[in-house]
Amino acid sequence: MKKLLLFALVALSLSACTTKTTNGTQSADADRQPSVITWIEDKPGPTVQGRNVFPSVPDSLWSALGLTEGVPSSISCFLLETEGCKILLDAGLGAPFSQLIPKLEESGVTPDSLSLIYITHMHPDHIGGMLHEGSVVFPNAEVYVNRVEAEAWQSMDGERAALPKAVLNAYSDHLHLFEAGDMLPGGVLSIAAYGHTPGHTVFQKDSILVIADLMHGAALQMSHPEYCPFFDMDPAAATEARIRIMDYARSNSLSVYGMHLPTGSVTLSDAQ
Ligand SMILES: [Zn+2]
Repeated sequence: MKKLLLFALVALSLSACTTKTTNGTQSADADRQPSVITWIEDKPGPTVQGRNVFPSVPDSLWSALGLTEGVPSSISCFLLETEGCKILLDAGLGAPFSQLIPKLEESGVTPDSLSLIYITHMHPDHIGGMLHEGSVVFPNAEVYVNRVEAEAWQSMDGERAALPKAVLNAYSDHLHLFEAGDMLPGGVLSIAAYGHTPGHTVFQKDSILVIADLMHGAALQMSHPEYCPFFDMDPAAATEARIRIMDYARSNSLSVYGMHLPTGSVTLSDAQ
């Protein structure tokens, strides 16, 4: 009886998660439950980005900012619960120390039960957790990747493209390529923030903005968005995206979550 009731509840919550991708703006539904986002620190902290990650920053600026040891950071993913959907935003490193799976289970989500994954971009600290020894970790998940990002990695050669290609191939039966600006299931808006990678994408749900890898050292880049880490693939585009998206967040008083922000949200209306 208890089992039946549980099944009915699961079915109810699944049916509430609309799986349609549309092009447009977020709907305003006053009756819906507030969204909940859970910060999952995949690599146990504390994490500091060394000064060598930002090679063009002068010593004088590091000193002025009091960042002589580097910039506080993290390697994180997020679980977004909204409109009956449980959505994993990126999958972390998949390293032996990774905390993604136990943290998901703390939130009542098992690898088998997860139904939606949205990928911000295809660097290894974001998709490493999609595979374990070459096999899919989330066999029942529908995986959403920006078409520009997927096609860019598919067309690249060499070792750096091996993992993205393996992930795209392993999840090919559950793969959904979206266009920037599309509204994904759960009413999550995808926004182009190209530069860090060719199709780097940030996601917005109401006042929640997940900025992916727009910033690797917030204590530096919040006031100096012109400085790029060496892994921004197109530094000029990454800088433009950083300035544009952070202006958007500020002017809309959004709460910002990032895969390399130190754990805790930042409301940019309160920031400099
Ligand atoms: Zn990253």
